[in-house]
Amino acid sequence: MVIVVSIEGAEVTPQRYSVRQHPPVPTDPGRPAYFLRVTLDDCPCGTGERYDVCCGRLHRGAAEAASAEELMRSRYAAYAVGELGYVWRTWHPRTRPESVEPDPTLRWTGLTVLDAGDDEVEFEAAYDRAGTPGRLHERSRFEQRRGRWVYVDGDLS
Ligand SMILES: [Zn+2]
Repeated sequence: MVIVVSIEGAEVTPQRYSVRQHPPVPTDPGRPAYFLRVTLDDCPCGTGERYDVCCGRLHRGAAEAASAEELMRSRYAAYAVGELGYVWRTWHPRTRPESVEPDPTLRWTGLTVLDAGDDEVEFEAAYDRAGTPGRLHERSRFEQRRGRWVYVDGDLS
């Protein structure tokens, strides 16, 4: 099934979604079942895992990133799916902006992790800005703060 998903008018396809009836078996046949569960199939961070068991569980607060690389991937995925509150929450209070605003002309299209150390991750992120493709290359620094990984800053090149 192909559906077009829009959030406040901004189209977020062509990510692939699964739509399942939820709950899968109606308990009362006399009552119409109209609950649908929409899940993003492939996590944008590129692990090949389903979004809800990969970065989705971090975005919804069901788990914490276990490493700097996992946090980096989940922050990229958060940008890609528009979970900008997560981007902000996982940014060190010392370096984070007052808010993270959406950029409707920008669509993130792929992530390649080039090198991952204990507290540094080098990556390349592909994007499409108003139809023009581009790449962002960054070496990011992370820190553990009260047991949680947070993004500190990065060098673009
Ligand atoms: Zn992921």
